[in-house]
Formats: sequence, structure tokens, C-alpha cells
Amino acid sequence: MRAMRLTAWGREPTLTEVERPSPRGDEVLVRVEAVGLCHSDLHVVDAAEGALPYRLPFTLGHEVAGHVAALGPDADGPPPGERVVLYGPWGCGHCARCAAGRDNYCDRRGDLGWHGVGLGRDGGMAEYVLVPSARHLVPIGDLPADQAAPLSDAGLTSYHAIAGLRHTLGDGTNAAVIGVGGLGHLAVQILRATTPSHILAVDIREEALDLARRSGAHVATLLQEDTARVLRARTGGVGVDAVLDFVGSDTTLDLAAALLRPGGELALVGSGGGRLTVRKPGVLPPGSRLSLPFWGTRPELAEVVALARSGALHVETEQFPLSSAPEAFGRLRRGEVRGRTVLVPD
Ligand SMILES: [Zn+2]
Ligand SMILES: [Zn+2]
Repeated sequence: MRAMRLTAWGREPTLTEVERPSPRGDEVLVRVEAVGLCHSDLHVVDAAEGALPYRLPFTLGHEVAGHVAALGPDADGPPPGERVVLYGPWGCGHCARCAAGRDNYCDRRGDLGWHGVGLGRDGGMAEYVLVPSARHLVPIGDLPADQAAPLSDAGLTSYHAIAGLRHTLGDGTNAAVIGVGGLGHLAVQILRATTPSHILAVDIREEALDLARRSGAHVATLLQEDTARVLRARTGGVGVDAVLDFVGSDTTLDLAAALLRPGGELALVGSGGGRLTVRKPGVLPPGSRLSLPFWGTRPELAEVVALARSGALHVETEQFPLSSAPEAFGRLRRGEVRGRTVLVPD
């Protein structure tokens, strides 16, 4: 079968012919219907040798939807033919975190040598992917594969970030979403579907503001020097109850701190490398709580899928055949793709 493999650090991945795996023990073989491609893949491809704990070569693809093709002799999972999305952040499978479906915070992450499917382990940019355990499979019913695949990363990461602060978002509250790209536009939809909050969206691109409005933001504004003042005015001057920063640059973290209301929640999701000084007293108002969410939990993926099946989530995608994966990487790198990039085996 064909697979998009990373074979050397510092070199572009290539489409290679590899043997189709067959499931042993608890493993499940999934026939790929769609696989997302995102900036995390570019970070992996561009990583310097030694920067990531992964052993080469491996197949990329951490956002995977498909159907069960075959079960290992000991696998206890959905029957062949069942359509599923893969829970991506595979952990050790044995620690307390993994047992609770929170592989994203696996206690043994540092010893594993991988971050999940397609991230140090063979992923879904191929015709088939081997899953170590049926516990990583979430049924999707008739949800289109190009929708389900990106939900496993962009959808789940946004959902998990919001889950941590949803208790503060009751009636009459305000939530700010900074950065309305692949994750941010889903965050706006998830906030609309699961909270009564007034949603304020910020981005530096006009087209992202259109996407924010289409996704359900009540206010969408360009990031400018007076943005904090303008948005605070929209909250009656008190500030916002929660800020989700999907960029994480110095500029956006400064904005987040300036927007926050006392006792507010700041979730830093983006890995933009910006710095925020945490000090008492400092730029963060009293009572602020800061979280650094990473990916999401298995039960949350099932909740995201349920939301999407109810019609509350729509992912903007652009599809390419798997045979055009190198071109899709190039387009993503040059910023020429609208929405999430999805590869479909041809
Ligand atoms: Zn991704
Ligand atoms: Zn674990």
C-alpha cells in the first residue's frame, strides 16, 4: 500500500510503497477514508534531528477516520465495517491517566518515544493504519470522513480547552477567541453549542473574521492597538470571563491579559512561543486561572463526534487525493489552503 513516510530529518516526506500491516493480539486494522494534514505535521517535518523523540521512518497522519477492516485475535472492538475516528494521543495504555481515557496526559509520555498516531508511530496517511487497541476507536455512524478526521485534532483540542473553563461561562458571560483558524473556528462553534456566552473573536485577517461570523461569533474584530479597549467596552467595561488564545504570541498574550476580568480563565492553546509574566501583582487580574491544554481525552472525542452528528459543528475542509500528498504539503506550507487540509486515499 502507499504511505506518506518521513524517512529522514530535515527532508520532505515521500510517498512510498510499504507492506499492508495485519493485526495481531489486541490490534485493529482500519481502512483509511480520510486523514487530516495540519501545521503539526509541518512542525514534525521541519524538526531538527533530536528535537523530537521519534524513531524514523514512520507514516505521518494523526487525524484519521475510516472503517474497521480486521481485528486481531484478542481485540475487543467494533466489528469489521464499523466507521470510526481514531483517538490520536496514544499513551502507554497502563497508567492511571490512560486508564481514565486521558492518554493526552499519560504519566509515561516522556519514556514512550512517540506522541501518538502519525507522531512517532505509523499514522493514517496511507491506505490502512494499525491501531494498538480498540479503545482508541470512536464510532462515527454516518458522519462524513472529511468532517470526522479533523475533529480528532482541531475539534478535540478546542473542545478540551473549552471543557476546562465551561463552568465559568453561564448566562451573561463573555468569551474571547483569539485566532480564528482551524481550531478557532471550531472553538466558536463549540462555545455557541455548549454555552450561553457572548463570543468575541479576534484575528489579523479579514477572511478569518468572516469565518468567525459564519461560525457564530457575536463580534469579530481585527487585532489592532485599541482592540482590548474596544472589546472591553462590549462587555460593559468589566472584561471577559474566559479567553482562548489559539495563537500564543507575545501580542496575543498581552491582549488576553488586557481583556481578562478578575477571576477569569485564560487557556493558552497556541504554541506561538510568546511569553507572559505571571506575578502577583502583575498583568493578570486577581483570581485569574491559567491553563495549558494539550489535545483532549477519549470521552471528549466521543462528545465532539456527537456534537458534529447533531449538526452543531461544521469543519471547513479542502480535499486532496492521497497521491497528491506532496502537493498538499506544499500548499499548506505556502498558506494556500482554505480550511483544514484532508487527504483521501485514491
Ligand atoms: Zn493536527
Ligand atoms: Zn499512560
